[in-house]
Amino acid sequence: MKRLRSSVMDIKAFLQCKKLRRSHRLEAKENSGTQTEKMKLGSLGHFSVLPLELKFFILRYLTVEDLSILTITSKAMRNLIEGYRVLMPLIPSDLMKRLHITKTSQAFPHDKQKAFLDTFYRLGLLTKRSTCLYATRDRLKFVNEILTKMMCNNSDCDNLTQCMSLACFGKFLHTVIAGWDDSECQRTYDAIAHHTCLLKNVKLVINSKPGTHVQTEHEVRTFLRRVILDHCQSIVDRAFWLGRILKPWPMVHQARILFLLYGPEINGEIQWYEFCVSTPVNPEQSAKHFGELANAVQILHGYRREWTEDDIISILDELTNSPEEWMAENVAHLFILCGDVITSKMLISKAINGRTVELSTITTSFCVVCVKNSFSLSYVLGMIHNIIGAMDKPKDRLHYLNSLMDMFRELILDLHEFSDQEDGRENDMYYMVTALSEFTKKIVVLAFKNMLTS
Ligand SMILES: [Zn+2]
Repeated sequence: MKRLRSSVMDIKAFLQCKKLRRSHRLEAKENSGTQTEKMKLGSLGHFSVLPLELKFFILRYLTVEDLSILTITSKAMRNLIEGYRVLMPLIPSDLMKRLHITKTSQAFPHDKQKAFLDTFYRLGLLTKRSTCLYATRDRLKFVNEILTKMMCNNSDCDNLTQCMSLACFGKFLHTVIAGWDDSECQRTYDAIAHHTCLLKNVKLVINSKPGTHVQTEHEVRTFLRRVILDHCQSIVDRAFWLGRILKPWPMVHQARILFLLYGPEINGEIQWYEFCVSTPVNPEQSAKHFGELANAVQILHGYRREWTEDDIISILDELTNSPEEWMAENVAHLFILCGDVITSKMLISKAINGRTVELSTITTSFCVVCVKNSFSLSYVLGMIHNIIGAMDKPKDRLHYLNSLMDMFRELILDLHEFSDQEDGRENDMYYMVTALSEFTKKIVVLAFKNMLTS
C-alpha cells in the first residue's frame, strides 16, 4: 500500500519487475510444471498467465461499467485495472472536445446532456473504485488533472452558458468523492480552488462595484454552480458546499456571493440592480427572480451546524440592501418565500428595535405580493400578530397599526402622482388598491366576528 501511494499514477507500480525481453514460448517451456499450479493460486486466475500487454488489450474491449465492476472483484484485479487506467487516457480527448460549444456547433438537446452526464458518472465510479486505496492528496491530484483538461479556458469554447464541460466535470467530481467525510470534502474544495483561479476571481468580483467584471462574474457563478453545487444529492449536502463557498468571507461578502450565485441573470449578465429599481411583472417572473435565492437562504437556515438564525438575518439584511436598498415589495417577496420562521424572526427583531416605519412598509408590501401572486392574506394577519406580540407597549402597537394604514395612503397617493401610463406599470395602482381593500376586508371580518357567525 505504501508503495502504491508513493508511486500513484506511475506505471512502474503496475509492472512489478522489469523483465528482460525473451521468448514467452521458451519461458513457458521452462515453467510448464508450475503453470497449472500458478493458474490455480494466481490472484487473477487463468487471466494471470497472459502477458500484461495482452491483458490490457483485452481490457480495451470492456465498457467503463465493466471495468468499474472488475475493480471491486479482487485487489489484484483492481491493481490491473488501475494500471490500465493510468496508461490509457480515462476520458478520450474527442469526448472532452465534444462537450464544448464552438461557433459551428449547437446547444445540446436534453437527452444528449443526460447521456454526457451519465458517461461522466460512470467514469467517476471507475475512478472512485480503482483509486480507493490511494491517499486523498493523490486522488485530488488526479481529479485536478482532469479538471485542467476540461476547463473552457483551455479549449475552443465559445459559449460558457450552453457548454457541458463543467457540468460533466461536476458530475465526475461528486461521484468520485461521494461518501467522503467533511474534512476530505473541505480539502477537495480547497484543492480545486487552489488549482484554478477561483478564489482570485471571487475576490476580484466582491471587491469591485457589481457589474464591473461581467465576464468574470458569469464565470465564477457558472463554475461554482456546475462544479460544486448543482450535483448535490441532498439539502444537507448543498448546505455543506454552500458553507465551503461562503464561510471564508465576511457577512457582507457572503450576501454578495449568494446573489452572484442565485440572483437573476440575463444572457450571462447578473442583474445586480434589478431588485433596487423594479418589481416582477407577474408570478412567473417572481418565481424566476426569487425562487433560487430564497431556496438557498432556507437551506442555510436549516443547517444549524454552521448557521445560526442571527447569521441568516444578517445575511438577509445585507442581501436586501445590496448593492443599494431593494424596493419594499421585493424584500417582502423574498421574505415570504424564505418561510414563516425566518420572516417572523426578522420582523420581530425590527419590532424590538422600534423600526415601525420599515415594518409598516414591509407589511403593506406583503399585502401587494399576496394579491399579485394569489397567496392568502391570512399570512399577513399572522405576521401582524407576531409583530404586535413582540411590542411591549400598547401605545407602540397602536402606532404600528396606524402607520400601516398611513403607509397604504402614502403609497397610493405616490402611485397616483408619479405613475406613468407609458412605462407599462399601470397595474401597480390596481394591485395596491386591491391590496388595501382585501386587507381591510380581513380586518372588518375580525372586527365584526361575533355578528358574522351568529
Ligand atoms: Zn466549454
